[in-house]
Amino acid sequence: MNNLHQIPLQDIHGLGAARSKDLNALGIHSVSDLIEYFPFRYEDYRLRDLSEVEDGDRITVQAKIHSLPQVQRYGRNKSRMTCKMMVDDQFMITSVWFNRHFLKDRLIIGKEIIVTGKWDSKRQVLTVSESEFPGTHSPQAGSLQPVYSVGGSITQKWIRKIIHQALQQYGGLIRDPIPAFYSEKHNLIPRKQAIMSIHHPQDALDGTEARRRLVYEELFLFQLKLMIFRSTSRSKADGIQHIFDSEDIRKFVRSLPFQLTDSQKKVIAELLSDLRQPYSMNRLLQGDVGSGKTVVAAAALYANFKSGFQGAMMVPTEILAEQHYQSLQDLFASYGLEIGLLVGSLTNKQRKDVLASLQSGLIDIVVGTHALIQENVHFRSLGLVVTDEQHRFGVNQRTIFRHKGLNPDVLTMTATPIPRTLAITAFGDMDVSTLKELPKGRKEIKTYWVKHNLMKRVLGFIQKELKAHRQAYVICPLIEESDKIDVQNAIDLHAEIQAFLVGYKVGLLHGRQAADEKEQVMLQFSENEVQVLVSTTVVEVGVNVPNATVMVIYDADRFGLSQLHQLRGRVGRGQAQSYCILIADPKSEMGQERMRSMTKTNDGFEIARMDLELRGPGDFFGTKQSGMPEFRVADLAHDFEVLEMAREDAAELVKSEEFWTAAKYLPLRELLDQDQLLEKELD
Ligand code: ADP
Ligand code: MG
Repeated sequence: MNNLHQIPLQDIHGLGAARSKDLNALGIHSVSDLIEYFPFRYEDYRLRDLSEVEDGDRITVQAKIHSLPQVQRYGRNKSRMTCKMMVDDQFMITSVWFNRHFLKDRLIIGKEIIVTGKWDSKRQVLTVSESEFPGTHSPQAGSLQPVYSVGGSITQKWIRKIIHQALQQYGGLIRDPIPAFYSEKHNLIPRKQAIMSIHHPQDALDGTEARRRLVYEELFLFQLKLMIFRSTSRSKADGIQHIFDSEDIRKFVRSLPFQLTDSQKKVIAELLSDLRQPYSMNRLLQGDVGSGKTVVAAAALYANFKSGFQGAMMVPTEILAEQHYQSLQDLFASYGLEIGLLVGSLTNKQRKDVLASLQSGLIDIVVGTHALIQENVHFRSLGLVVTDEQHRFGVNQRTIFRHKGLNPDVLTMTATPIPRTLAITAFGDMDVSTLKELPKGRKEIKTYWVKHNLMKRVLGFIQKELKAHRQAYVICPLIEESDKIDVQNAIDLHAEIQAFLVGYKVGLLHGRQAADEKEQVMLQFSENEVQVLVSTTVVEVGVNVPNATVMVIYDADRFGLSQLHQLRGRVGRGQAQSYCILIADPKSEMGQERMRSMTKTNDGFEIARMDLELRGPGDFFGTKQSGMPEFRVADLAHDFEVLEMAREDAAELVKSEEFWTAAKYLPLRELLDQDQLLEKELD
């Protein structure tokens, strides 16, 4: 079997044991690894026309030596050598070498030379960094040379040579795992050609095409693995098969005070279908802020209840738990469901009661913070877990429930609007549902960006809205939960605003307050006893006070774009026109760009995309915990379209009978088999 994975490095001519070791340190263990060790950029040695280059460019030209070289020596080993030369029989330039006087004897009048260096167009001087003499072996001149990430004793020159050698020796054995059908469909060049070109592109276009082919391959194989894993883990049917009457759910939906959006209906249908399946559901529900995720979750919780199971809803903060608890009670008021609340601040007795009722099955749905996943929490029959704003937990709740010996269906909701394709990638084995539209009648939130010196006018604006019986949030940044300075900022800002808004009540909310104190303030705000809420970012997630129409964000440049969008989503929840005012004096161009982006769009997906582009995917998803895979060639900030393409193709292929049986897919199956995916259980 000619499998490049199995050919040891030392089979490459000129590669000994010592150097093999050095390559191992770079993660290169086989011929396959070596030829897939791609350059991260190219050095351009293509010959340039002097009339077209710009001052300061790094250029390569071919020239004829015109004068005897002049050498000035100073210090030990230091020298400066100049020589006049003619380029294209047209331009007389001066080349300058530093500390290269040993080349002197080779600079013979009338001979050709190829020089690379920095061009000073005013003085017509080229400061030479590399010189080559045609006729001798001159591999660089006229080409794009790959630049690899190297270290240890491995030099750029050497790795270029050895990769070149490996390609000469084994290039013929490169096989193409991509089904011809897809290569043709997307106009992809063959794998062998792509690998040759990525190391030695003829030109920029050649490099681009090679890269596109390899990005597709990487993402296609990645998606295939995910889907194979999913389809095998699914066939296990180890989940709960919920049994309920659709008519009951329809009745519940009809009783809502509003019409569901089409998106909501579609997603509810997806959830109900998942619940009925015997495998366990693991679905991500993403929807922009205000898209109405809660009611969608409620419908699923209701179906779960009707099937005779308990449900749980897990949220990141107590305020939010309280609020969801309230809204579920309202939604299910006439259905006889017992809703429980489990948060850290319960008294011992309250807590004991709730735990007992969960165990006995008295509570049908429990809402809580991470208190819900603690050891001593036992359910009688847990059938569905909903987690809201999951990016805040940073743990895999599913695993935790599994460890408890439970295998409930899991619905994870996130308002961090990640483009769909990225969500699929990041969340691996999850299915994804998206709420694509906001409920009708919502007005665009008008967003303005002002400098700090306009604070008085902002306060005046708040006052105007208060006169119209509206309410306002003022957010100041919290950098560290424990940071005293931030709390002090909030306290100062609160005092300043209260002094200005005579006759209105201004509340204060920050991380240092006791839970019941926070709750009290939140309650007052939601009942309009407090008209303005000054807060650190604890209101970032989820709270719903439709009468609030103004969101002022102080030092807005200290927040990430997605976070700003989250905060903005706290207003615009009622019928009235809402406003978001960003107060910031960002110094950097990027900071200003971010503020402008916020004023330009209300679309969370668009904002997530911009955020991603400004910050890069690693940062965007937070830590490694997010499970974002690292790709060798693909860059998710820019390769969206390819990812989507690859995903569709992989899905189609896995569904086909042929993929599993036909001989033509054998190489592909073998390749996937190398990771033992077709057998191994990853969970
Ligand atoms: P999010 O997706 O941000 O969690 P919520 O579930 O809090 O959004 O919903 C935001 C508001 O919109 C709530 O007041 C909710 O009652 C309301 N809502 C949800 N769906 C609809 C709908 N189809 N029509 C009108 N209002 C809706
Ligand atoms: Mg919500």
